[in-house]
Amino acid sequence: MQQCPHCHSEHVQLLKQTEQRQHSPLSRLSTFSPMTLATVAMQMSKRMHIHPLFGGCIGLVVGGMFLLYVEYQSEITVLHYQCEQCQQHFEIRQVD
Ligand SMILES: [Zn+2]
Repeated sequence: MQQCPHCHSEHVQLLKQTEQRQHSPLSRLSTFSPMTLATVAMQMSKRMHIHPLFGGCIGLVVGGMFLLYVEYQSEITVLHYQCEQCQQHFEIRQVD
């Protein structure tokens, strides 16, 4: 049961629930763009004697999937409550 942050009453009512995108701590990893990863993969594949273009493609795919994963992780649920005691509204953020 949720508690009101204003008067600490447990008599709170859930008004609505919304989905929100939030800047997760992981979002700073987004500075690693798929293109950066592709370049790194191309350089690595040269060393491993794989065709650079092939390595670059893998880097691009892995980078893209990673970004999607980070995006997915930053999806949060916001629960909007109203306190029945002091009538204040407050939000609870939930990460799925
Ligand atoms: Zn309250």
